[in-house]
Amino acid sequence: MVHFGERYLSARKLVIAIDGPAASGKSTTARLVAETLGYLHIDTGAMYRALTLKVLRAGIPPADAEGVGRLLATTHVALRREGEVTRVLLDGVDVNAEIRSRVVTRAVSAVSRHSSVREAMVREQRRMGSEGGIVLEGRDIGTVVFPDADLKFFMTAGIEARARRRGEELRAGGIAPDMSGLIEEIQERDSLDSAREVSPLKKAEDAIEVDTSDLTIEEQVRLVVERVRGVVEGTDA
Ligand code: C5P
Repeated sequence: MVHFGERYLSARKLVIAIDGPAASGKSTTARLVAETLGYLHIDTGAMYRALTLKVLRAGIPPADAEGVGRLLATTHVALRREGEVTRVLLDGVDVNAEIRSRVVTRAVSAVSRHSSVREAMVREQRRMGSEGGIVLEGRDIGTVVFPDADLKFFMTAGIEARARRRGEELRAGGIAPDMSGLIEEIQERDSLDSAREVSPLKKAEDAIEVDTSDLTIEEQVRLVVERVRGVVEGTDA
């Protein structure tokens, strides 16, 4: 864990944006940075995943913009912090495990490309971040949700490193991963997320690019926290 005089750091509450493709190390980094700084961590992917779960349960085709839009109007997605864990609530029910399933992962890009979905999610994310002291991770945080974020990071990693990490996560959950299938799934999701019309996955011009292929989690966290310290101390832009 990284310690940098947390009381001092908390004097100014920043908005920190972490974007990047699937399995690039965003989530773990964002969670640990938030923990180190005493900030709130918002996993925006979890919000899109929760809606996708509801779309699938309702039997609505993910590509059906109207159907998804109608469902969205009666859907409440919230993130609730409970100690160390952030729970994802879909209409008040914890769906943290279900939203990581393969069916949801496969459908989420098709649901999150609809403009009605993006508008609703972005509105909620801006509301949550309005007071600062927050680390948001996703695909469009630095470009669309908080274009004026105090610090923006764009995390990347080679496809092998990303598939290996995702494989380790699955193995930890008792699932034997099919590595070539994983590589294909990650690439497919990235290309859908990058090619969509509304707020595609792309690096904000002023984002700091971090290739995490050969970095440990601790190194990733340290790198972000050091930049935060630079901004708070006024030694960085
Ligand atoms: O980060 P995670 O892999 O959980 O994100 C799941 C999906 O949610 C992404 O593949 C993308 O389609 C969508 N997403 C998005 N915008 C965000 C975060 C996630 O479109 N800010």
